[in-house]
Amino acid sequence: MPADHLALDLAVTIRHDGHGGVADDLAEPAGLTGWVRTHAADLQADLAAGPYAAATFTADDAVLAAAVEVRTAVRALFARAVLPGPPSSADADRLPTARQALDRLNAAAALVPVTPRLDWPQGGAAAECRTVAGAPAPADLLAAALARHAIGFLAGPDRELLRACPAPRCVRYFVKEHARQEWCKPSCGNRARVARHHARQRAAGGDAT
Ligand SMILES: [Zn+2]
Repeated sequence: MPADHLALDLAVTIRHDGHGGVADDLAEPAGLTGWVRTHAADLQADLAAGPYAAATFTADDAVLAAAVEVRTAVRALFARAVLPGPPSSADADRLPTARQALDRLNAAAALVPVTPRLDWPQGGAAAECRTVAGAPAPADLLAAALARHAIGFLAGPDRELLRACPAPRCVRYFVKEHARQEWCKPSCGNRARVARHHARQRAAGGDAT
């Protein structure tokens, strides 16, 4: 089973905008709708436990607020996870404390208790499904699902491989795929090398005068 990086994908919806600023893919409900549908494979079992299908899920303001609250908790806990390294600079100065983030994440997970269920039709494959009691609001169902994925990630082995990309202007978190990986993607490494080169040149020029 591949590692569950849904929490990481949620965290990096806050990203560099390509012009030196920070963009938020979840600034509007439509952004969250697109994100959930893009991650339908990961969220299908969670949302189908209620009356929703991830592929047609549509967010409104309440759903967006609930998802963003979980994301804020995730980013606060990511900032803790990368210590003693620096956190993503995008929002480091306005995150809740780790204690507040833990409470928020656990409260979100508790919004919708789920029960595992085995589906195994005659002649078909066995699959682990989930059910929820009643008909929870979509905001609660999604927030609880995102929180469960985040708990799985933060309690799992990939937490220790989490890093904030140190390239200039990059604000992404990433999971190191090999020991020597320094950057979230090769283009960040190139940008960082160019910046270092210019810094060295400036230093050399400064020494000459
Ligand atoms: Zn990067």
